[in-house]
Amino acid sequence: MPVSSGIVTRFVPGETTETAVAATSQLVASGRKVTLDYLGEDTLDRDQADATVAAYLEVLKALGERGLSSDAEVSVKLSAVGQALPDNGEKVALENARSICRAARNVGTTVTLDMEDHTTTDSTLRVLRELRKDFPETGAVLQAYLYRTEADCRDLATEGSRVRLCKGAYKEPEAVAYQDRLDVDRSYVRCLKVLMEGDGYPMVATHDPRMIRIAAHLSQQTGRTPGSYEYQMLYGIRPDEQSRLAASGETMRVYVPYGTEWYGYLMRRLAERPSNLTFFLRSLISKK
Ligand SMILES: Cc1cc2nc3c(=O)[nH]c(=O)nc-3n(C[C@H](O)[C@H](O)[C@H](O)COP(=O)(O)OP(=O)(O)OC[C@H]3O[C@@H](n4cnc5c(N)ncnc54)[C@H](O)[C@@H]3O)c2cc1C
Repeated sequence: MPVSSGIVTRFVPGETTETAVAATSQLVASGRKVTLDYLGEDTLDRDQADATVAAYLEVLKALGERGLSSDAEVSVKLSAVGQALPDNGEKVALENARSICRAARNVGTTVTLDMEDHTTTDSTLRVLRELRKDFPETGAVLQAYLYRTEADCRDLATEGSRVRLCKGAYKEPEAVAYQDRLDVDRSYVRCLKVLMEGDGYPMVATHDPRMIRIAAHLSQQTGRTPGSYEYQMLYGIRPDEQSRLAASGETMRVYVPYGTEWYGYLMRRLAERPSNLTFFLRSLISKK
């Protein structure tokens, strides 16, 4: 399937830096903020990891040149920059992430470290702690479906700490994660409460109308004003709600994935929601 087919472009604007920057420009013009993700994960190839770093440096430079860096940052998966390499993966990932953080700071923006499956959580939080020594603005991601996350939220709800809370996108075993959607939702609310009551900067990443209502309520209850937290959604999902939140004065950031490695990302979105699958099948039949 080419990237130009409807189902792909609904979730991924394109494969190149140029398409990513064009999509960013449009979203920023509509009052939304952006975090860009150069697609790719689980690389076992050092050259591939280096190419991913180069892609991030290129897009950061482009954001700076177009005057978009105050509204757009980047999200990085450590497994795409070497975390899974045998022997010294974590060290390679840390150094690569450091290069990306430096480039981001040079153009006046930030990096958020995406969170992957539970076998990488400790390593990712170790890398985050190291990075934050030099780049305290680096954002973390925590996944509400993990039993450990409420405690991680307490650890990270500190002054200046940017924390994206999501439900979690990987298939995880019962030993580490809630399996029932209601339990995941309850955990999300508990974690959100910790973050909103804390001193950090909560980033509420969900499309769930209930979670969004609860976030709004908690922000009022804890005396937060718009701008002291933000909402985040994925590119192509609930765009009307994205616009509504932005128009109401809230900070709304859209996660925009781009690049040639869109297959795994797309499959996770399709697995998550049957209506996405219907959309996918319809687009296959109509060959659009
Ligand atoms: C900005 C952002 C960054 C993320 N980063 C990570 C990460 O680093 N690591 C990770 O594991 N996961 C990440 N995720 C994915 C996340 O963990 C979930 O898998 C994903 O967001 C789906 O969960 P949900 O909270 O949107 O609600 P769900 O439980 O999937 O859905 C709840 C309700 O939301 C509404 N909804 C959901 N999807 C749609 C849709 N397509 N159209 C219309 N309504 C919809 C429906 O009302 C639905 O009943 C990220 C998500 C976002 C938004």
